[in-house]
Amino acid sequence: KHALTKGTGGYLTLDLGALCANYLLLQKQAGEARVSAVVKADAYGIGADKVAPVLYQVGCRDFFVAHACEAFSLRQRLPADASLYVLNGLMPGAEAACADQNIIPVLNSADQIARWLEVAASRGERLPAVLQFDTGMSRLGLSPEDREALDCEAIKAHLDVHFLMSHLACADEPSHSANLGQLAVMREISAHFPNAAVSFANSGGLFLSPDFRYQLARPGVALYGGAPNDARPNPMQPVVGLHVAVIQTRTVPAGTRIGYGGTYVAATEMKLATIAAGYADGLPRSLSPRGAAWFGDVRLPIVGRVSMDSIILDISALADGTLVAGRFVELIGPHQSLDAIAADAGTISYEILTSLGRRFHREYL
Ligand code: PLP
Repeated sequence: KHALTKGTGGYLTLDLGALCANYLLLQKQAGEARVSAVVKADAYGIGADKVAPVLYQVGCRDFFVAHACEAFSLRQRLPADASLYVLNGLMPGAEAACADQNIIPVLNSADQIARWLEVAASRGERLPAVLQFDTGMSRLGLSPEDREALDCEAIKAHLDVHFLMSHLACADEPSHSANLGQLAVMREISAHFPNAAVSFANSGGLFLSPDFRYQLARPGVALYGGAPNDARPNPMQPVVGLHVAVIQTRTVPAGTRIGYGGTYVAATEMKLATIAAGYADGLPRSLSPRGAAWFGDVRLPIVGRVSMDSIILDISALADGTLVAGRFVELIGPHQSLDAIAADAGTISYEILTSLGRRFHREYL
């Protein structure tokens, strides 16, 4: 079925049914809070054009991207009642296009608020907006003290503030003291705007205490099957699978150097398989030396450095002729989760997901 007729080195399966199941699970976890979807970076590499409409069908009405251009493209794909928010804020030059296309900027600074107010005044319209506060991550948003200086009258008159928001820096570590610290700051800010809704929790935040849920949660990675936090087991269904083709096999004698730099030396005679994916396909060089692929229930360690377009596996554990050119090994699947391969590479599931290459055949299930 997955022969290389399309000329690709492997295939990615993207399970939209599992994605929807994850959305519904998160909605259950959120209780009374609404659940949005963070679909920035092409829905973490899974394909925002596919992900957003499917999530809309199961009830999601709020979608977050990082750049305005991502929102412009999604605007074409989603019904008018879907709200599209730009996390990176209102970049100079994007004002008119955002207003024209009903894109909602997350206003991160006094300057962004001033420019959006100007657009609203010049058009004689109330414009939708979100106000972001930095409650402890020091990345984006107004500082908590800025709340005193805001021209609330002008904001009330010209902007329709959907909610206040902030982002948690350590929500994936439920016991981290920074979580409660950020919550305390968020409480102070929201006390200053008594009627405003709040969006606070990302995937991890939804699995902290109910105090973190507020009115709108913003999960990303958990929708796509990544673990929301470091607690085991991961409650989310896997969304992504990756199988890569064997290009060539060989047997080498003891003492043979393998891969770039000859860093790996065969201690005994070894059977090797070279597979058609490398760091250009989002499989980092750091997967060597801990990483592996799987063939059935057999683990096949990566040997030597990961190349741009290929990886060499030790297939000595398999009987001759079992794994031949044209057959596929599992990189992400039932034997090796997204989180597991990320851990082997010394990184996080987010980085693996968003790097998954464009050279794989994509099959949406
Ligand atoms: N909210 C903001 C502001 C983000 O930057 C992100 C992602 O990095 C998310 C929500 C979603 O986070 P997660 O993927 O951890 O659920």
